[in-house]
Amino acid sequence: MLLSEVGYARPATVEQALELLAEHDGARALAGGQTLINVMKARAASPDVLVDLNDIAELKGIELGSDGTLSIAPMTTYTELIASPEARARPILGEVCAQIADVQVRNRGTIGGNVCSSDPTNHLPPLMVAVGAQLTIAGAEGERTVPADEFFLGVYMTAVGFAELLTRITIPAGRGDGFASVPIGRDGTCIVNAAASANGGLRVALGCVGAVPELVEPSSGDAEAVKEAVRAANIQPPGDVHASSDYRRHLAEVVAVRAAEQASKRARE
Ligand SMILES: Cc1cc2nc3c(=O)[nH]c(=O)nc-3n(C[C@H](O)[C@H](O)[C@H](O)COP(=O)(O)OP(=O)(O)OC[C@H]3O[C@@H](n4cnc5c(N)ncnc54)[C@H](O)[C@@H]3O)c2cc1C
Repeated sequence: MLLSEVGYARPATVEQALELLAEHDGARALAGGQTLINVMKARAASPDVLVDLNDIAELKGIELGSDGTLSIAPMTTYTELIASPEARARPILGEVCAQIADVQVRNRGTIGGNVCSSDPTNHLPPLMVAVGAQLTIAGAEGERTVPADEFFLGVYMTAVGFAELLTRITIPAGRGDGFASVPIGRDGTCIVNAAASANGGLRVALGCVGAVPELVEPSSGDAEAVKEAVRAANIQPPGDVHASSDYRRHLAEVVAVRAAEQASKRARE
């Protein structure tokens, strides 16, 4: 279906973008467009104005701090993350981005758009929660930073409010990470996924089992301990044509164990 008519602005700075977003009630930020343009074509969203972030240099790039902290600008595409020497400091980032959809989506889709979509089937929300990412949000009042486990508020809802922008994702140093999923076909949407981080205590974040990632913290990486932690979370996953609620609950244990094993193994290396 063709797009409906929509206003379009292409600011050069974050400040200009924030002003444009504040001026129009129905304005939406446009990143890679891989979700937003599709939902507009399907008439599931009809913004009045698209504020295209693609010319804003300060929203691009990846920096690696001397302590191993990664600072990733939201307009970084999956392809850029996969190729980035800096991002290899936390190898799981590129590895998971390489599993997202196809090359066309990876060339356009951005890390910021992925998390701001807060689509429960996306790959990056559970990963951000597991690795303990901090997300910086800018608005008229200045900047604030929220941890990933407080950023995702519901399906398509995040801590980014009206006339605000996600401007930075900060990821602490660490290499003991894992990710596992059961997708629909090789490059397809996840039926269930799990990201794990064993840099310090073990954190496992489950995706596709609720509106937002479900964080569990098993007492160890032992398979029984991980399964027990998933059971204790009492998740109530949705059922659909791909998997019943019970089957997703079962898969959640399976992928949590796989992700935790990978994270624990890498943490020991
Ligand atoms: C065929 C297909 C298959 C896909 N499969 C997967 C998959 O398996 N796993 C997966 O994770 N994803 C998948 N996706 C989604 C894809 O990863 C999208 O790129 C991503 O969800 C959105 O990123 P984007 O840069 O395209 O954002 P856009 O579509 O431009 O924006 C998405 C939303 O985020 C908001 N937004 C974007 N940037 C900011 C910002 N800096 N501050 C505030 N709000 C912002 C926009 O206003 C919009 O509401 C798929 C997409 C397609 C088309």
